[in-house]
Amino acid sequence: MGKVQTFKTEVSQLLDLMINSLYSNKDIFLRELVANAADAIDKARFESLTKPELARDWQIRLAVDKENKTLTISDNGIGMTESEVIENIGTIARSGTKAFMQEMAARQDQSTAAPDLIGQFGVGFYSAFMVAEEVTLITKKSGSDAPAVRWISKGEGSFETDTDPRTEPGTEIILKLRPTCENYLEEWKLSDIVHRYSDFIAYPIIFPHVKVNEDKTETIEDRTLNSQKAIWLRKPSEITEEEHKSFFSHLSNWGGSEYLQVIPIAAEGVQEFRALIYIPEQAPFKFLMPDLQKKGLQLYVHRVFITDECKELIPDYLRFVRGVVDSSDLPLNVSREILQENPLLLKIQKAVTTKVLSELQKMLDNDPEKYRKFFREFGKILKEGIHTDMQNGEKLKKLALFETMNSKPGELITLTDYVKTMPENQKEIYYITGESRAAVESSPALEYYRAKGFDVLFMTDPIDEWIMQSMYQFDKKNFKSIIRGEFEADEEEKKTLDEAAKKYTKLVDFLKKSLDGDVSEVRFSGRLTDSPCCLVIEGNALSPHMERLFKAMNQEIPRTKRILELNPAHPLTEALNARCEAGEEGLDRFARVLYDQALLTEGSPIPDPAAFAKNITELLLGHLKKD
Ligand code: ADP
Ligand code: MG
Repeated sequence: MGKVQTFKTEVSQLLDLMINSLYSNKDIFLRELVANAADAIDKARFESLTKPELARDWQIRLAVDKENKTLTISDNGIGMTESEVIENIGTIARSGTKAFMQEMAARQDQSTAAPDLIGQFGVGFYSAFMVAEEVTLITKKSGSDAPAVRWISKGEGSFETDTDPRTEPGTEIILKLRPTCENYLEEWKLSDIVHRYSDFIAYPIIFPHVKVNEDKTETIEDRTLNSQKAIWLRKPSEITEEEHKSFFSHLSNWGGSEYLQVIPIAAEGVQEFRALIYIPEQAPFKFLMPDLQKKGLQLYVHRVFITDECKELIPDYLRFVRGVVDSSDLPLNVSREILQENPLLLKIQKAVTTKVLSELQKMLDNDPEKYRKFFREFGKILKEGIHTDMQNGEKLKKLALFETMNSKPGELITLTDYVKTMPENQKEIYYITGESRAAVESSPALEYYRAKGFDVLFMTDPIDEWIMQSMYQFDKKNFKSIIRGEFEADEEEKKTLDEAAKKYTKLVDFLKKSLDGDVSEVRFSGRLTDSPCCLVIEGNALSPHMERLFKAMNQEIPRTKRILELNPAHPLTEALNARCEAGEEGLDRFARVLYDQALLTEGSPIPDPAAFAKNITELLLGHLKKD
C-alpha cells in the first residue's frame, strides 16, 4: 500500500471548483497536459545536450482504452522524483493556486471565466479533473536511480503515492474519464483539439490509429496529429516563399496568400520572443467593416497557442499586419483581462512596433514604388499613429505620404521631399485640408502660394484633420494651414492691405451687415490673386470639412462663422465699393453670390442652391438688359 496524503486546503477547494463549477471549454485540459509534456521534453532535451546518453526520440503520445474509458497522455521528458511530485502537484499549495482561487472568487460567472485562468496561474495539471474522475500519474525522473512514482487521486481531498515498476524516464498521465466526457476517447476529437491548440508544439503528438485492413484484420499505425511547423522559430533564410505564403494565408483567413513583406523578429536579452509579421499586399474586404476584422497578432507561449487576436501585441494603427508572436517569458495561457494588464505584452508591442516601422522606412528608402503601393492600401491607418503614438511620431511623419499642389494627381511625396524643395524664403510647411484633391485644388486660398512658388500639401483623408492636431513640426518647421488664421503679410503687402481697408470702408461695412448671419468678420488679405474673395477659419475653430465629418457621424455641433477675406486688387472690389458709396439699393444679392461662390470654390456645399441659382439669373438678366 502506498502513502495516503491530504491536499492542502487551497488545492482541495481548487479541485472542487474544477469538478463542480466548470462547464465550458473542457477541451483545454488536453492543451494543458500536452504543454506540460512539451515542457518536460524541453527540459530533458536541454539536459541531453551535456549528457548525450539521455537523448531520446522525443515525443508525446496519446492513447485511448475504450473498454476502460481511459485516455493516456505520455511523454519521454524529464520526469519527476517523488518529492517533486508532491511539491509540484501534491500537498504544497503552489503560489499560483491561492491567486487562482482569489481571482475565481472575484468572478461572477465562474463557469465561463475559469478555463482561461487555469494555465495562467500554473494550475494546469488540475484541469485534468474537469474530465477525469480519477487521475493516475506515473513518472520516472530522467538520469536518477530512484524508482518510478505512482500518484493517484480522485480529486476529493486526498491522493496516494507509491512506487511503480516503470523503468523508462518520462511521465504518463492516465485519465479515467467521467461518463459525460467519453467523447475524449475519439481520435477525431483529440485530433481536433491538438490541431486547434497545440499544432505548433515542436515535438510530434502521436496517436495510434487503428486501421481496418481489407481482410478485416486491424493494424495500428502511429499518426502524428500536429504539424509541428513552428515556422517562426526557424531561420528566416531557410523559409521558402511557398511556406511563407501558406502560413500567411493560414494567419490572414482572407483567402488570399499574397503578402507584400515579411518581417521576422528574433528578440533576445531582456525580452525574449520570436515573431513573424506579414504586411498584406491588399486590404481585404473585411477591412472596411471593423467588426469583421480580426485585430492583433496570434500569441504563442513556448509554441503553445494562446490566442488568435491578441490586440495588446500591436498598436491600433498597425492593425493591418498579420503575424505571430511566441514568447518565452509569458506564463502559459493568459485570460483576456490578464493580457491587458501584462507589462510583458507592452514591451513586446514596443519592440514589434519599432521593427515594423524601421522595415517600412527601409522599404521607402530602397523600393519607393513598393512602399507607395503599401501606403495606398494602408496609409490612412498608419497615419493614425501620428496622433496616437507620440513616441514614434517622428518616425511616422517620415513615413507619411501626401499629394501636393505641385504633384500630379495620384503622385505621393514625403515630408522630407517637400522640405527639400522649399524655396529659401519659405519658412513654414503649408497645407490645406478638404474632401478630395478636386475640392482643394480649386480653392482660391492656393492662389498666393502658387504665385510665390511654394508647394502646399493636400490633406484629403478624413483622418488628416485629426492628425494635424499632433503634427506641430517637421524638420523644425511649423505646419501652417492656408485656410486658417491670419495671412502673414510682409511690409509691402501690409501697406497695400491697410490702404485697401481705408479706401473700401463702405464695401466692408456693407458686406458685414449683409452677411451678418454667416461670417464673423470681413477683411482684406494678400492670400488671393485671381479670385475676389475666400473664406478662412479663425485660429482654433473647426474647419468646414471637420464640421461635415462630425455631422456625418450624427454629432450635433454649433456652426462656426468664418471670416470673409477680400482681394484688394480684384476689379470687383472697386466696382462694388463704388456702388456702395453711391448708396445703391438691392446690393444684398451681390453679397449672397460672393459668399456662395466662396463656398463653392473651396468645395463646400452651399446652404440654398435654389436661391443661389435665382440670384445668378437675376444678375445675368440685369446685365443683359443693360446692353
Ligand atoms: P505549470 O505547468 O504552470 O507549472 P501545472 O499545474 O501544469 O503548472 O504543472 C505543475 C508542475 O508539475 C509543472 O511545473 C511541472 O514541474 C510538473 N509537471 C506537470 N506535468 C509534468 C510532466 N508531464 N512531466 C514532468 N513534470 C510535470
Ligand atoms: Mg502546465
